[in-house]
Amino acid sequence: MIYLVLATSFLWLFWFSERYAWWGKTLDLRRARVLMYHMIKEPTPGAKFNGLRVSPDLFEQQVRWLSEGGWRFVTMSELADQPPSDKVVAITFDDGFEDNYLNAFPILKKYNAKATLYLVVDRHDRDWSVSKKSHHNSGELKNESKLSDEQIREMLASGVFELGGHTMTHANLAKLNEADKYNEIAASKEHLESLFSCQLSSFAYPFGIYNHQIDPQLVKKAGFESAVTTEDGIPLDVQTSLYELPRIKISGKDGFFAFKIRMRRSKRGLRK
Ligand SMILES: [Zn+2]
Repeated sequence: MIYLVLATSFLWLFWFSERYAWWGKTLDLRRARVLMYHMIKEPTPGAKFNGLRVSPDLFEQQVRWLSEGGWRFVTMSELADQPPSDKVVAITFDDGFEDNYLNAFPILKKYNAKATLYLVVDRHDRDWSVSKKSHHNSGELKNESKLSDEQIREMLASGVFELGGHTMTHANLAKLNEADKYNEIAASKEHLESLFSCQLSSFAYPFGIYNHQIDPQLVKKAGFESAVTTEDGIPLDVQTSLYELPRIKISGKDGFFAFKIRMRRSKRGLRK
């Protein structure tokens, strides 16, 4: 019997350590954390993209923890314009899902937090997941409601959100010629700036595709002053990687403990 208990304990410890690598050291707190979210809503049972759905309760727990822990919330334009300082966090949302208004916005307001919204211009009734992988044709993301212009106006007027670019159609930029690539990037900036009378300073590469396939210089040429990727990580220095900033992926499949570990060093365990 005792051997069984010991063996089970060892197995559990092994699993726990591989998953959370709890001994890993905390990266310098002067290195800003940029967090990537998509939706703030309850997961849909059996759905494929539940990693993108963080429940409102978990999101509130995360924002409260950041606030109580002395983290300072900044938008991406503020992040790009300031020297490094202790405990700076930039919350970002990709795409423009309606739950950002319904669920995330009240929580951010409650804790005096801020966020950047990387908004797709032509976002209604589109299933962009297929332009990366054609077998992703379930319509799951297409069926999620997207933000209306009215909701976005309210979010911007509150000072809680700032807008960032995420192309016109969430195109797979790697498949376009140079002129069309540039147009997807630059037109989205012009369009949103005139529609919402604001300035866009930051860009998010659709599907995180950049570098070999998308020259970050195109983003700079379009007038953006920073760009975020979907690369997992914490930038060593914001200024030197201004157009390829990694982010910490916040997954709806992770719990609160994993979030705290990711804030320390981006990866939750040995592999992810
Ligand atoms: Zn996206």
